[in-house]
Amino acid sequence: MSDTPIVTRFAPSPTGALHIGSARTALFNWLYARGRGGKFLLRIEDTDRARSTPQNTQKILDGLTWLGLDWDGDPISQADQADRHVAVAHQMLADGTAFKCFSTPEDIEAFREKARAEKTSTLFRSPWRDVPETDHPDAPFTIRVKAPRDGSTTLHDEVQGDVTWANAQLDDMIILRSDGTPVYMLAVVVDDHDMGVTHVIRGDDHLANAFRQNMIYEAMGWNKPVLAHVPLIFGPDGKKLSKRHGATGAAEYQAMGYPAAGMRNYLARLGWSHADDEFFTDDQAKDWFDLAGIGKSPARFDFKKLDNICGQHIAASDDAALLQEIDAFLHATDATPLSALQRDGLLAAMYCLKERAKTLPDLIEKAHFILTSRPIDPDEKAAKNLDDVHIGILSELTPQLQNASWDRDTLEGAVSAVATANDTKLGKLAGPLRAVLAGRAVSPSVFDMMLVLGRDETLLRLKDATG
Ligand code: GLU
Repeated sequence: MSDTPIVTRFAPSPTGALHIGSARTALFNWLYARGRGGKFLLRIEDTDRARSTPQNTQKILDGLTWLGLDWDGDPISQADQADRHVAVAHQMLADGTAFKCFSTPEDIEAFREKARAEKTSTLFRSPWRDVPETDHPDAPFTIRVKAPRDGSTTLHDEVQGDVTWANAQLDDMIILRSDGTPVYMLAVVVDDHDMGVTHVIRGDDHLANAFRQNMIYEAMGWNKPVLAHVPLIFGPDGKKLSKRHGATGAAEYQAMGYPAAGMRNYLARLGWSHADDEFFTDDQAKDWFDLAGIGKSPARFDFKKLDNICGQHIAASDDAALLQEIDAFLHATDATPLSALQRDGLLAAMYCLKERAKTLPDLIEKAHFILTSRPIDPDEKAAKNLDDVHIGILSELTPQLQNASWDRDTLEGAVSAVATANDTKLGKLAGPLRAVLAGRAVSPSVFDMMLVLGRDETLLRLKDATG
Protein backbone atom coordinates (compact mmCIF):
# COMPACT_ATOMS: atom_id res chain seq x y z
CA MET A 1 0.00 0.00 0.00
CA SER A 2 1.31 3.45 -0.86
CA ASP A 3 1.80 6.15 1.77
CA THR A 4 -0.81 8.46 0.25
CA PRO A 5 -4.26 7.71 1.60
CA ILE A 6 -6.70 6.74 -1.11
CA VAL A 7 -9.33 9.34 -1.97
CA THR A 8 -12.05 8.55 -4.48
CA ARG A 9 -15.07 10.57 -5.40
CA PHE A 10 -18.44 10.27 -7.02
CA ALA A 11 -19.30 13.36 -9.03
CA PRO A 12 -22.90 13.23 -10.25
CA SER A 13 -24.52 16.02 -12.22
CA PRO A 14 -27.91 16.64 -10.60
CA THR A 15 -29.77 16.85 -13.87
CA GLY A 16 -31.88 13.80 -13.07
CA ALA A 17 -32.34 11.02 -10.54
CA LEU A 18 -29.62 8.47 -9.77
CA HIS A 19 -29.14 6.26 -12.85
CA ILE A 20 -28.24 2.65 -12.26
CA GLY A 21 -24.98 3.14 -14.20
CA SER A 22 -24.04 6.07 -11.99
CA ALA A 23 -24.93 4.01 -8.94
CA ARG A 24 -22.44 1.43 -10.13
CA THR A 25 -19.78 4.14 -10.58
CA ALA A 26 -20.46 5.30 -7.04
CA LEU A 27 -20.26 1.73 -5.79
CA PHE A 28 -16.89 1.10 -7.46
CA ASN A 29 -15.47 4.27 -5.92
CA TRP A 30 -16.94 3.38 -2.54
CA LEU A 31 -15.60 -0.16 -2.61
CA TYR A 32 -12.17 0.99 -3.71
CA ALA A 33 -11.88 3.55 -0.92
CA ARG A 34 -13.56 1.54 1.81
CA GLY A 35 -11.46 -1.53 1.10
CA ARG A 36 -8.29 0.49 1.52
CA GLY A 37 -9.06 2.64 4.52
CA GLY A 38 -9.47 5.60 2.18
CA LYS A 39 -12.03 8.33 1.78
CA PHE A 40 -15.04 8.35 -0.50
CA LEU A 41 -16.12 11.91 -1.32
CA LEU A 42 -19.18 13.27 -2.98
CA ARG A 43 -19.14 16.23 -5.34
CA ILE A 44 -22.32 17.57 -6.86
CA GLU A 45 -21.49 18.91 -10.32
CA ASP A 46 -24.10 21.62 -10.32
CA THR A 47 -22.49 24.21 -12.56
CA ASP A 48 -25.18 23.74 -15.18
CA ARG A 49 -27.56 26.04 -13.34
CA ALA A 50 -30.38 25.57 -15.80
CA ARG A 51 -30.53 21.78 -15.50
CA SER A 52 -29.36 21.18 -11.93
CA THR A 53 -32.03 21.20 -9.25
CA PRO A 54 -31.92 20.71 -5.47
CA GLN A 55 -34.64 18.07 -5.92
CA ASN A 56 -32.38 16.03 -8.18
CA THR A 57 -29.50 16.41 -5.74
CA GLN A 58 -31.76 15.10 -3.00
CA LYS A 59 -32.81 12.17 -5.15
CA ILE A 60 -29.18 11.28 -5.75
CA LEU A 61 -28.37 11.47 -2.04
CA ASP A 62 -31.45 9.36 -1.27
CA GLY A 63 -30.38 6.78 -3.84
CA LEU A 64 -26.89 6.53 -2.39
CA THR A 65 -28.29 6.31 1.12
CA TRP A 66 -30.64 3.52 0.12
CA LEU A 67 -27.74 1.66 -1.45
CA GLY A 68 -25.75 2.11 1.74
CA LEU A 69 -22.97 4.03 0.01
CA ASP A 70 -21.95 6.42 2.75
CA TRP A 71 -19.64 9.28 1.87
CA ASP A 72 -17.11 11.17 3.96
CA GLY A 73 -17.79 14.75 4.97
CA ASP A 74 -20.41 16.98 3.41
CA PRO A 75 -21.19 16.79 -0.29
CA ILE A 76 -19.24 19.48 -2.12
CA SER A 77 -21.04 21.79 -4.50
CA GLN A 78 -18.97 22.43 -7.61
CA ALA A 79 -20.75 25.70 -8.24
CA ASP A 80 -19.64 26.92 -4.80
CA GLN A 81 -15.99 26.56 -5.86
CA ALA A 82 -16.34 28.92 -8.83
CA ASP A 83 -14.02 31.59 -7.37
CA ARG A 84 -11.30 29.03 -7.00
CA HIS A 85 -11.80 27.85 -10.61
CA VAL A 86 -11.48 31.45 -11.80
CA ALA A 87 -8.34 31.93 -9.73
CA VAL A 88 -6.72 28.89 -11.33
CA ALA A 89 -7.56 30.19 -14.82
CA HIS A 90 -5.84 33.46 -13.94
CA GLN A 91 -2.91 31.59 -12.47
CA MET A 92 -2.50 29.77 -15.77
CA LEU A 93 -2.68 33.07 -17.57
CA ALA A 94 0.04 34.50 -15.34
CA ASP A 95 2.16 31.39 -15.83
CA GLY A 96 1.84 31.62 -19.62
CA THR A 97 0.16 28.22 -19.91
CA ALA A 98 -3.05 29.97 -20.95
CA PHE A 99 -3.76 33.08 -23.01
CA LYS A 100 -6.36 35.72 -23.58
CA CYS A 101 -8.28 35.17 -26.78
CA PHE A 102 -10.20 38.06 -28.33
CA SER A 103 -11.73 36.08 -31.17
CA THR A 104 -15.45 36.61 -31.45
CA PRO A 105 -17.92 33.83 -32.23
CA GLU A 106 -18.03 35.22 -35.79
CA ASP A 107 -14.22 34.98 -36.09
CA ILE A 108 -14.40 31.36 -34.95
CA GLU A 109 -17.17 30.50 -37.36
CA ALA A 110 -15.23 32.10 -40.21
CA PHE A 111 -12.17 30.03 -39.23
CA ARG A 112 -14.22 26.85 -39.29
CA GLU A 113 -15.80 27.65 -42.62
CA LYS A 114 -12.41 28.25 -44.19
CA ALA A 115 -11.09 25.02 -42.68
CA ARG A 116 -14.04 23.09 -44.06
CA ALA A 117 -13.48 24.58 -47.52
CA GLU A 118 -9.77 23.78 -47.38
CA LYS A 119 -10.44 20.40 -45.80
CA THR A 120 -8.12 21.13 -42.88
CA SER A 121 -8.82 20.58 -39.19
CA THR A 122 -11.75 22.57 -37.88
CA LEU A 123 -10.23 22.63 -34.37
CA PHE A 124 -9.97 26.32 -33.66
CA ARG A 125 -6.46 27.77 -33.69
CA SER A 126 -6.62 31.16 -32.05
CA PRO A 127 -4.53 33.90 -33.65
CA TRP A 128 -4.07 35.40 -30.14
CA ARG A 129 -2.05 32.57 -28.66
CA ASP A 130 1.30 34.33 -28.98
CA VAL A 131 0.25 37.98 -29.16
CA PRO A 132 1.96 39.99 -26.38
CA GLU A 133 -0.18 41.79 -23.79
CA THR A 134 0.89 45.19 -25.14
CA ASP A 135 -0.89 44.44 -28.40
CA HIS A 136 -4.16 43.37 -26.77
CA PRO A 137 -7.30 45.36 -27.53
CA ASP A 138 -9.58 46.63 -24.81
CA ALA A 139 -12.28 44.09 -25.55
CA PRO A 140 -13.94 41.05 -24.00
CA PHE A 141 -11.82 37.91 -24.03
CA THR A 142 -11.91 34.27 -23.14
CA ILE A 143 -9.02 32.47 -21.47
CA ARG A 144 -7.79 29.47 -23.40
CA VAL A 145 -5.28 26.84 -22.48
CA LYS A 146 -2.21 26.52 -24.67
CA ALA A 147 -2.67 23.01 -25.98
CA PRO A 148 0.39 21.11 -27.18
CA ARG A 149 0.56 21.35 -30.96
CA ASP A 150 2.86 18.47 -31.88
CA GLY A 151 3.46 14.92 -30.84
CA SER A 152 1.05 12.84 -28.84
CA THR A 153 -0.19 12.31 -25.30
CA THR A 154 -0.35 8.90 -23.68
CA LEU A 155 -2.41 8.40 -20.57
CA HIS A 156 -2.30 5.24 -18.58
CA ASP A 157 -5.69 3.95 -17.61
CA GLU A 158 -6.11 1.06 -15.20
CA VAL A 159 -8.95 -0.35 -17.27
CA GLN A 160 -8.16 0.75 -20.83
CA GLY A 161 -4.37 0.39 -20.65
CA ASP A 162 -2.19 3.02 -22.36
CA VAL A 163 -4.30 5.30 -24.48
CA THR A 164 -2.59 7.62 -26.95
CA TRP A 165 -4.00 10.69 -28.61
CA ALA A 166 -2.39 12.84 -31.27
CA ASN A 167 -2.01 16.33 -29.80
CA ALA A 168 -3.30 17.73 -33.07
CA GLN A 169 -6.71 16.56 -31.81
CA LEU A 170 -6.50 18.87 -28.80
CA ASP A 171 -7.73 22.42 -29.15
CA ASP A 172 -6.81 25.46 -27.11
CA MET A 173 -9.94 24.91 -25.10
CA ILE A 174 -11.63 27.74 -23.27
CA ILE A 175 -11.22 27.56 -19.50
CA LEU A 176 -12.83 30.91 -18.68
CA ARG A 177 -15.69 32.28 -20.74
CA SER A 178 -15.86 35.94 -21.78
CA ASP A 179 -18.42 36.55 -19.01
CA GLY A 180 -15.79 35.39 -16.51
CA THR A 181 -17.39 32.04 -15.69
CA PRO A 182 -15.22 28.91 -15.56
CA VAL A 183 -15.94 25.92 -17.78
CA TYR A 184 -16.81 22.48 -16.48
CA MET A 185 -13.56 20.87 -17.68
CA LEU A 186 -11.52 23.26 -15.53
CA ALA A 187 -13.81 22.84 -12.54
CA VAL A 188 -13.40 19.05 -12.52
CA VAL A 189 -9.61 19.24 -12.45
CA VAL A 190 -9.41 21.97 -9.84
CA ASP A 191 -11.92 20.20 -7.59
CA ASP A 192 -10.26 16.81 -7.95
CA HIS A 193 -6.96 18.44 -7.08
CA ASP A 194 -8.32 20.42 -4.13
CA MET A 195 -10.20 17.41 -2.79
CA GLY A 196 -7.01 15.37 -2.92
CA VAL A 197 -8.58 12.79 -5.22
CA THR A 198 -6.06 10.03 -5.91
CA HIS A 199 -8.22 7.77 -8.10
CA VAL A 200 -10.75 8.83 -10.70
CA ILE A 201 -13.06 5.90 -11.44
CA ARG A 202 -15.83 6.85 -13.85
CA GLY A 203 -17.65 5.88 -17.04
CA ASP A 204 -15.59 5.56 -20.20
CA ASP A 205 -17.74 8.24 -21.80
CA HIS A 206 -15.32 10.57 -19.96
CA LEU A 207 -12.16 9.15 -21.51
CA ALA A 208 -11.86 11.92 -24.11
CA ASN A 209 -12.29 14.47 -21.32
CA ALA A 210 -9.29 12.96 -19.55
CA PHE A 211 -7.04 14.22 -22.36
CA ARG A 212 -8.44 17.72 -22.14
CA GLN A 213 -8.25 17.69 -18.36
CA ASN A 214 -4.68 16.45 -18.59
CA MET A 215 -3.65 19.77 -20.17
CA ILE A 216 -4.70 21.55 -16.99
CA TYR A 217 -2.80 19.12 -14.75
CA GLU A 218 0.26 19.69 -16.94
CA ALA A 219 -0.16 23.45 -16.88
CA MET A 220 -0.51 23.58 -13.10
CA GLY A 221 2.16 20.94 -12.45
CA TRP A 222 -0.26 19.03 -10.26
CA ASN A 223 -0.08 15.34 -9.39
CA LYS A 224 -2.38 13.39 -11.64
CA PRO A 225 -4.86 10.91 -10.23
CA VAL A 226 -4.88 7.28 -11.25
CA LEU A 227 -7.48 6.86 -13.98
CA ALA A 228 -9.96 4.03 -14.43
CA HIS A 229 -12.56 4.50 -17.16
CA VAL A 230 -15.20 1.83 -16.84
CA PRO A 231 -17.19 0.63 -19.87
CA LEU A 232 -20.84 1.60 -19.73
CA ILE A 233 -23.58 -0.88 -18.91
CA PHE A 234 -25.44 -2.50 -21.78
CA GLY A 235 -28.85 -4.10 -21.88
CA PRO A 236 -29.28 -7.84 -22.53
CA ASP A 237 -29.28 -7.11 -26.29
CA GLY A 238 -25.84 -5.49 -26.23
CA LYS A 239 -27.10 -1.92 -26.66
CA LYS A 240 -26.59 0.86 -24.15
CA LEU A 241 -28.88 0.29 -21.15
CA SER A 242 -32.04 2.32 -21.58
CA LYS A 243 -35.65 2.42 -20.52
CA ARG A 244 -36.41 -0.01 -23.35
CA HIS A 245 -34.68 -2.75 -21.35
CA GLY A 246 -36.40 -2.03 -18.05
CA ALA A 247 -35.85 0.21 -15.08
CA THR A 248 -32.79 2.47 -15.26
CA GLY A 249 -33.23 4.51 -12.07
CA ALA A 250 -31.86 3.30 -8.74
CA ALA A 251 -35.10 4.46 -7.08
CA GLU A 252 -37.12 2.16 -9.33
CA TYR A 253 -35.20 -0.84 -8.02
CA GLN A 254 -35.80 0.38 -4.50
CA ALA A 255 -39.52 0.66 -5.26
CA MET A 256 -39.54 -2.85 -6.70
CA GLY A 257 -38.20 -4.00 -3.35
CA TYR A 258 -34.76 -5.25 -4.28
CA PRO A 259 -32.66 -5.50 -1.13
CA ALA A 260 -29.79 -3.02 -1.03
CA ALA A 261 -27.17 -5.66 -0.21
CA GLY A 262 -28.24 -7.74 -3.19
CA MET A 263 -28.19 -4.68 -5.40
CA ARG A 264 -24.66 -3.82 -4.27
CA ASN A 265 -23.54 -7.37 -4.94
CA TYR A 266 -25.16 -7.44 -8.36
CA LEU A 267 -23.89 -4.02 -9.41
CA ALA A 268 -20.37 -4.88 -8.25
CA ARG A 269 -20.41 -7.88 -10.58
CA LEU A 270 -21.59 -5.71 -13.43
CA GLY A 271 -18.27 -5.07 -15.10
CA TRP A 272 -16.01 -6.34 -12.35
CA SER A 273 -15.18 -9.86 -11.34
CA HIS A 274 -13.26 -11.77 -8.73
CA ALA A 275 -12.59 -15.32 -9.89
CA ASP A 276 -15.95 -17.09 -10.26
CA ASP A 277 -17.53 -15.45 -7.24
CA GLU A 278 -21.10 -14.35 -7.89
CA PHE A 279 -22.51 -14.08 -4.40
CA PHE A 280 -20.54 -12.18 -1.78
CA THR A 281 -20.83 -9.95 1.23
CA ASP A 282 -19.84 -6.29 1.49
CA ASP A 283 -16.76 -7.23 3.47
CA GLN A 284 -15.66 -9.63 0.78
CA ALA A 285 -16.36 -7.07 -1.93
CA LYS A 286 -14.32 -4.43 -0.07
CA ASP A 287 -11.49 -6.92 0.35
CA TRP A 288 -11.53 -8.10 -3.22
CA PHE A 289 -12.39 -5.04 -5.24
CA ASP A 290 -9.57 -3.84 -7.45
CA LEU A 291 -9.19 -2.00 -10.72
CA ALA A 292 -7.53 -4.95 -12.43
CA GLY A 293 -10.77 -6.92 -12.11
CA ILE A 294 -12.74 -4.39 -14.17
CA GLY A 295 -13.51 -5.74 -17.64
CA LYS A 296 -12.66 -3.92 -20.84
CA SER A 297 -15.93 -4.67 -22.56
CA PRO A 298 -19.36 -3.50 -21.46
CA ALA A 299 -21.23 -5.69 -19.01
CA ARG A 300 -24.79 -6.68 -19.85
CA PHE A 301 -27.55 -6.13 -17.36
CA ASP A 302 -29.12 -9.49 -16.58
CA PHE A 303 -32.43 -9.16 -14.76
CA LYS A 304 -32.59 -12.89 -13.92
CA LYS A 305 -29.19 -12.79 -12.31
CA LEU A 306 -30.21 -9.74 -10.31
CA ASP A 307 -33.22 -11.68 -8.99
CA ASN A 308 -31.07 -14.65 -8.18
CA ILE A 309 -28.41 -12.67 -6.29
CA CYS A 310 -31.04 -10.66 -4.42
CA GLY A 311 -32.82 -13.86 -3.42
CA GLN A 312 -29.61 -15.20 -1.98
CA HIS A 313 -29.06 -12.02 0.00
CA ILE A 314 -32.56 -12.10 1.44
CA ALA A 315 -32.05 -15.73 2.46
CA ALA A 316 -28.73 -14.89 4.09
CA SER A 317 -29.96 -11.77 5.89
CA ASP A 318 -30.23 -11.46 9.60
CA ASP A 319 -33.95 -11.52 10.57
CA ALA A 320 -33.92 -8.23 12.47
CA ALA A 321 -32.03 -6.49 9.67
CA LEU A 322 -34.51 -7.81 7.15
CA LEU A 323 -37.39 -6.51 9.22
CA GLN A 324 -35.76 -3.10 9.26
CA GLU A 325 -35.35 -3.22 5.52
CA ILE A 326 -39.03 -4.11 5.14
CA ASP A 327 -39.95 -1.14 7.36
CA ALA A 328 -37.81 1.14 5.19
CA PHE A 329 -39.29 -0.31 2.01
CA LEU A 330 -42.86 0.26 3.20
CA HIS A 331 -41.93 3.78 4.19
CA ALA A 332 -40.23 4.53 0.85
CA THR A 333 -43.25 3.26 -1.08
CA ASP A 334 -45.77 5.13 1.10
CA ALA A 335 -47.33 1.86 2.23
CA THR A 336 -48.98 1.40 5.63
CA PRO A 337 -46.36 0.74 8.30
CA LEU A 338 -46.43 -2.57 10.18
CA SER A 339 -48.12 -2.79 13.57
CA ALA A 340 -46.19 -4.11 16.56
CA LEU A 341 -48.13 -7.35 16.29
CA GLN A 342 -47.30 -7.73 12.62
CA ARG A 343 -43.64 -7.05 13.32
CA ASP A 344 -43.58 -9.76 15.98
CA GLY A 345 -45.32 -12.14 13.62
CA LEU A 346 -42.90 -11.37 10.83
CA LEU A 347 -39.93 -11.99 13.07
CA ALA A 348 -41.35 -15.32 14.19
CA ALA A 349 -42.05 -16.32 10.59
CA MET A 350 -38.91 -14.89 9.02
CA TYR A 351 -37.07 -18.21 8.96
CA CYS A 352 -39.61 -19.64 6.52
CA LEU A 353 -40.23 -16.45 4.56
CA LYS A 354 -36.76 -15.57 3.45
CA GLU A 355 -36.12 -18.69 1.42
CA ARG A 356 -36.84 -18.17 -2.26
CA ALA A 357 -38.01 -14.53 -2.01
CA LYS A 358 -36.24 -12.44 -4.64
CA THR A 359 -37.60 -9.13 -3.50
CA LEU A 360 -39.15 -7.68 -0.38
CA PRO A 361 -42.65 -7.67 -1.94
CA ASP A 362 -42.16 -11.41 -2.65
CA LEU A 363 -41.44 -11.89 1.01
CA ILE A 364 -44.35 -9.71 2.11
CA GLU A 365 -46.66 -11.68 -0.15
CA LYS A 366 -45.48 -14.92 1.44
CA ALA A 367 -46.00 -13.34 4.84
CA HIS A 368 -49.65 -12.63 4.14
CA PHE A 369 -50.73 -15.43 6.52
CA ILE A 370 -49.09 -13.66 9.44
CA LEU A 371 -49.83 -10.08 8.44
CA THR A 372 -53.53 -10.65 7.93
CA SER A 373 -56.12 -11.42 10.59
CA ARG A 374 -59.22 -13.60 10.84
CA PRO A 375 -61.51 -14.21 9.20
CA ILE A 376 -59.22 -15.18 6.33
CA ASP A 377 -60.57 -14.09 3.01
CA PRO A 378 -59.08 -16.37 0.35
CA ASP A 379 -58.11 -14.75 -2.92
CA GLU A 380 -59.45 -16.17 -6.17
CA LYS A 381 -56.63 -18.65 -6.70
CA ALA A 382 -56.73 -19.96 -3.15
CA ALA A 383 -60.53 -20.20 -3.15
CA LYS A 384 -60.34 -22.62 -6.08
CA ASN A 385 -58.64 -25.13 -3.79
CA LEU A 386 -61.36 -24.96 -1.24
CA ASP A 387 -64.26 -27.08 -2.50
CA ASP A 388 -66.82 -28.80 -0.31
CA VAL A 389 -65.03 -32.15 -0.46
CA HIS A 390 -61.85 -30.67 0.91
CA ILE A 391 -63.64 -28.58 3.49
CA GLY A 392 -65.16 -31.85 4.67
CA ILE A 393 -61.80 -33.54 4.90
CA LEU A 394 -60.23 -30.62 6.72
CA SER A 395 -63.00 -30.61 9.30
CA GLU A 396 -61.63 -33.98 10.43
CA LEU A 397 -58.34 -32.34 11.20
CA THR A 398 -59.57 -30.23 14.09
CA PRO A 399 -60.03 -33.08 16.61
CA GLN A 400 -56.63 -34.47 15.60
CA LEU A 401 -54.91 -31.20 16.34
CA GLN A 402 -56.67 -30.31 19.54
CA ASN A 403 -54.39 -32.34 21.75
CA ALA A 404 -51.46 -32.99 19.44
CA SER A 405 -48.05 -31.85 20.56
CA TRP A 406 -47.21 -28.82 18.44
CA ASP A 407 -44.15 -29.93 16.52
CA ARG A 408 -43.52 -30.52 12.84
CA ASP A 409 -43.47 -34.33 12.99
CA THR A 410 -46.70 -34.62 14.89
CA LEU A 411 -48.44 -32.09 12.66
CA GLU A 412 -47.26 -33.90 9.55
CA GLY A 413 -48.46 -37.18 11.06
CA ALA A 414 -51.88 -35.71 11.81
CA VAL A 415 -52.42 -34.29 8.33
CA SER A 416 -51.12 -37.52 6.74
CA ALA A 417 -53.50 -39.59 8.81
CA VAL A 418 -56.48 -37.51 7.71
CA ALA A 419 -55.33 -37.74 4.09
CA THR A 420 -54.95 -41.53 4.28
CA ALA A 421 -58.34 -41.94 5.99
CA ASN A 422 -59.88 -40.08 3.05
CA ASP A 423 -58.00 -41.97 0.37
CA THR A 424 -55.98 -39.00 -0.67
CA LYS A 425 -52.41 -37.78 -0.32
CA LEU A 426 -50.89 -35.27 2.04
CA GLY A 427 -49.84 -33.16 -0.96
CA LYS A 428 -53.45 -32.87 -2.08
CA LEU A 429 -54.43 -31.28 1.19
CA ALA A 430 -51.73 -28.63 1.02
CA GLY A 431 -53.68 -26.33 -1.34
CA PRO A 432 -56.90 -26.35 0.69
CA LEU A 433 -54.94 -25.93 3.92
CA ARG A 434 -53.07 -22.98 2.46
CA ALA A 435 -56.38 -21.43 1.50
CA VAL A 436 -57.63 -21.89 5.05
CA LEU A 437 -54.52 -20.70 6.87
CA ALA A 438 -53.24 -18.01 4.49
CA GLY A 439 -55.99 -17.28 1.99
CA ARG A 440 -53.27 -17.46 -0.63
CA ALA A 441 -51.99 -20.04 -3.08
CA VAL A 442 -48.40 -19.00 -2.34
CA SER A 443 -47.23 -19.23 1.25
CA PRO A 444 -44.64 -21.00 3.37
CA SER A 445 -45.30 -24.72 3.91
CA VAL A 446 -48.52 -25.49 5.77
CA PHE A 447 -46.53 -26.93 8.68
CA ASP A 448 -44.40 -23.84 8.99
CA MET A 449 -47.56 -21.77 9.03
CA MET A 450 -49.11 -23.95 11.73
CA LEU A 451 -45.97 -23.74 13.81
CA VAL A 452 -45.77 -19.96 13.49
CA LEU A 453 -49.50 -19.40 14.05
CA GLY A 454 -49.67 -21.76 17.02
CA ARG A 455 -52.45 -24.11 18.00
CA ASP A 456 -55.19 -21.64 18.93
CA GLU A 457 -54.94 -19.50 15.81
CA THR A 458 -54.59 -22.56 13.55
CA LEU A 459 -57.73 -24.14 15.02
CA LEU A 460 -59.67 -20.90 14.80
CA ARG A 461 -58.82 -20.51 11.12
CA LEU A 462 -59.81 -24.14 10.49
CA LYS A 463 -63.06 -23.56 12.31
CA ASP A 464 -63.78 -20.39 10.35
CA ALA A 465 -63.48 -22.38 7.14
CA THR A 466 -65.08 -25.67 8.10
CA GLY A 467 -67.84 -24.31 10.24
N1 GLU B 1 -20.53 14.80 -13.65
C1 GLU B 1 -20.09 13.74 -14.50
C2 GLU B 1 -21.24 12.80 -14.77
O1 GLU B 1 -22.23 12.83 -14.06
C3 GLU B 1 -18.94 12.96 -13.91
C4 GLU B 1 -17.64 13.61 -14.11
C5 GLU B 1 -16.46 12.87 -13.57
O2 GLU B 1 -16.64 11.81 -12.93
O3 GLU B 1 -15.36 13.36 -13.78
O4 GLU B 1 -21.18 12.03 -15.71
